[in-house]
Amino acid sequence: MDYKAFKRLYDGDRIIFTMAMELFLENGRNCIMEHSEEELTQAVKKQLSNLFVPEKAYEVVQAAKAFSQLKLVDLLVYINKCDIQIGDRDADVSGVCPVCRGPLTYEDGTRNKINALAMKWTCQDCEATGTETYRRVFDGHCDVRLGDGRPVPPREH
Ligand SMILES: [Zn+2]
Repeated sequence: MDYKAFKRLYDGDRIIFTMAMELFLENGRNCIMEHSEEELTQAVKKQLSNLFVPEKAYEVVQAAKAFSQLKLVDLLVYINKCDIQIGDRDADVSGVCPVCRGPLTYEDGTRNKINALAMKWTCQDCEATGTETYRRVFDGHCDVRLGDGRPVPPREH
């Protein structure tokens, strides 16, 4: 699987992609490689019995097999290039109450302050309160000029 195929799967069917990635990450490369497609498909079907898509189990297994054949470094690069957030579903999300998952209201419209690194909120549903915090991330240099003021053309990436 190369990056194009990885991205095609990610863009094409996010449910299959996510389930395959979970299957791969939860069980590990060796487990995925050691078991036959039939065994894995049966296992996935069992897990999926409460979802609408048991017939997709085979596609999930195919994708998980493809992930297991990638070099770990390539997999991490692909995940990064697609900007995929891997992690637990209960992770904090901006604008979502961490207590009840309800929508948040921000104090003094801080939500609209682009550079705010901390925004106080109140949950519209359960009235919990808290503060969202942000980290500054370095992006790059821009508007670079030589000592005499001449602009420096941007570097090719
Ligand atoms: Zn709440």
